[in-house]
Amino acid sequence: MTTSTYSTLSSLGGFPFPVFVSRGSEERGRSIATRAADAIDWLGQVTGKRRRPTLVVADEQDWPSVCEVPIYGMMFSVPDKLGTSPTPAAWWSTYAGALRPHLSDPIRARLGAAFGEPPDYTGIADLIITHEATHLFHEIHPVTWASEFPADWVMELFANLGMHGYLATRDPDGLHLLAAMAEATLEAGHQIWDLQELARMGDSMQASVTNYVWYEFRLIRLAAQLWEAGGDDVLRDYQRLLGHPDLTHGQIVERLFRLEPAVAGAISRWPDP
Ligand SMILES: [Zn+2]
Repeated sequence: MTTSTYSTLSSLGGFPFPVFVSRGSEERGRSIATRAADAIDWLGQVTGKRRRPTLVVADEQDWPSVCEVPIYGMMFSVPDKLGTSPTPAAWWSTYAGALRPHLSDPIRARLGAAFGEPPDYTGIADLIITHEATHLFHEIHPVTWASEFPADWVMELFANLGMHGYLATRDPDGLHLLAAMAEATLEAGHQIWDLQELARMGDSMQASVTNYVWYEFRLIRLAAQLWEAGGDDVLRDYQRLLGHPDLTHGQIVERLFRLEPAVAGAISRWPDP
């Protein structure tokens, strides 16, 4: 999509890359763009790469004509472009609702403390742009969208590692939101999801959005463990060790073990925690 594709959107100045926002959502767009710019700056410093994507923040009405992903509010990263929405997608509350019957009182209370009652998922949804920004720092083939990683889940763990690293370093206030949802995800167990094998993560989006989100939150927890083990170095080491498309599952686990044995163990036991 070229810049003229966004003629129905407002163009926001003052950012190191083009930002287009649905009319009426300029304040929300400015807030999201500020975090995206800071994350891209941090990721650039850690990786030594420079990225200048176009950022689109589209409301429900504009979404279908300016976004590459059909589901409203499903944040995305494609070559040179990031997209998200000013309001959180409906699947946030669908996902939390699917977990809720399987949660203990303390974990349910923790979700309530994190998101309020009735819950507001704006804060957590806004953090995910930093996950999408991290996708700009690995290869994305322009036709197949393949990366240098040997499986979808390995690529998604990299994006979650970048998100966690950025937030822990520069923007830690939101980390408790991710942790609350990851904790609830773990406690609810995996039996409630149709697809559970790591190799099916890429397919799960077609099966059900919330099934896909389950994979992400399991990986978000492992990303936190990886970051705590190695900090800045772990992001570079992860890409150097795991950015090889032909690695077998056994080789992936062996290389993860070098980064953090606990994460290699969790991958070996998957879907058990
Ligand atoms: Zn991703």
